[in-house]
Amino acid sequence: MKTTLSFPVYKTKNSKLQQTNFSNLVFGQTISDHMFVADYKNGEWTDLRIEAYQPLSLNPANATLHYGQSIFEGMKAYRTPNGEVSVFRGDANWRRLNESAERMCMPTIPEEIFMEGLMQLLDLDRDWVPTAKGASLYVRPFMFATDDYIGVKPSETYKFMIFTCPVGNYYSKPVSVKVETEFTRATPGGTGAAKTAGNYAASLYPARRAQNLGYDQLLWTDGKNHQMIEESGTMNVMFKINGTIITAPTTTGTILKGITRDSVIQLAKDWNEPLEERFLSVSELEEALNSGTLEEAFGTGTAATIAHIERIHVNGKDYTLPAKKEDAFSHRVLRELDGIKYGTIADPHHWIALV
Ligand SMILES: *Cc1c(COP(=O)(O)O)cnc(C)c1O
Repeated sequence: MKTTLSFPVYKTKNSKLQQTNFSNLVFGQTISDHMFVADYKNGEWTDLRIEAYQPLSLNPANATLHYGQSIFEGMKAYRTPNGEVSVFRGDANWRRLNESAERMCMPTIPEEIFMEGLMQLLDLDRDWVPTAKGASLYVRPFMFATDDYIGVKPSETYKFMIFTCPVGNYYSKPVSVKVETEFTRATPGGTGAAKTAGNYAASLYPARRAQNLGYDQLLWTDGKNHQMIEESGTMNVMFKINGTIITAPTTTGTILKGITRDSVIQLAKDWNEPLEERFLSVSELEEALNSGTLEEAFGTGTAATIAHIERIHVNGKDYTLPAKKEDAFSHRVLRELDGIKYGTIADPHHWIALV
C-alpha cells in the first residue's frame, strides 16, 4: 500500500496470532497484536507510532477517569475472496469522531492521521482479519483526556488510539427488545448524538433491568414524553409498516448518526423503496403490531449489521413479529451490504477502501 505519513512501527516480539482460535471468537475478547497511538499536547498531535498492544499506565488523577472526556468509533475490516483486506466507510467514521470531539470539547484529529494510522495498522495486522464467512476484524478508534488534574475543565492533553479485534458472525439470532418509557438515553441539547463513554454508562442500568426480564435490548423513546421511538443504544432501528420503511431522523441531536443507517437509507433510495425519516410514535407502533401491518423491524449497526427483531415489548404487552422472509427488505439489504463489504459485488458508492 501507498503511505503518505511516516512514523515509527515497533513490532511485537510475542505475536499471539498462532495461539488464537479463530473458530471460537467472542465479540471484543480477542485483541490483535498491535495498536496505533498519537498524543496531543501543546495544541498538536505528536509522537505517532504503532506498537505492541499493551497496558497503559495512568495517574489516578487522570481526567477521563473522573469526568469522562472519552469518545470512540466502531468500524470493520473484511477479507475479500482473493485475500485482500477492505475497510467499509472509514472516512465516515473519521468525520463522526470529529463531531463527537467537538461536542466533548476535545481536539479534532486530521484525516491523514486517522486514515494512515488505520491503514498502516491494518496492513501490519492483516493476518488478523478472519477468513471465515461472516467474520471480520472489528476496529476500535478512540480518544480520551490524559491531563492529571481533577479540576473540572477540558483536558489539555489527549491520546488517540486504534486497536482491532477479530470477531465471528454476529447476526446468528434474532433479538427481542423492550420499549423503554421510564429511563432516558438522550435529550435535546444533551450528548446523544456523540459516541461518548457516558451515554453507554448511563444506559447499563436500564438495559440490565430489561435483560433480567428476558429482553436483549431496549428501544429508547424520547426523553421528554417517552412517546417517540428513537433508537436502540448500539443500533439505529427501522420499521417497515404497510410497505414503507420508517426510521427516526437524526436532526434532534438525540440519535447517533449510524453509518449502517445511512447506508441502508442509500440502498432504499437506489431500489426505489419507500422510506421515511420521521419519528414513529409508540402508539403508532402498537397499532401496527395489533393490526398486523408491521412487516419488519430491525436494528442497524456496525457490530450487529442488520439485526432482525422478533419480539417487542410495548406497554406491558409482548408481541411476536412474523418470521423474516427471504425477500424481506432487511434480508436484501444485509445481503447487499455483505456483498459490498466482502468484495463479491460492485461498490457503486465507493464505500470500500482496500488496505
Ligand atoms: C455506534 C452506534 C450506532 C450504530 O452506528 P454505526 O455507524 O452504524 O455502527 C447506533 N446507535 C448508537 C447509540 C451507537 O453508539
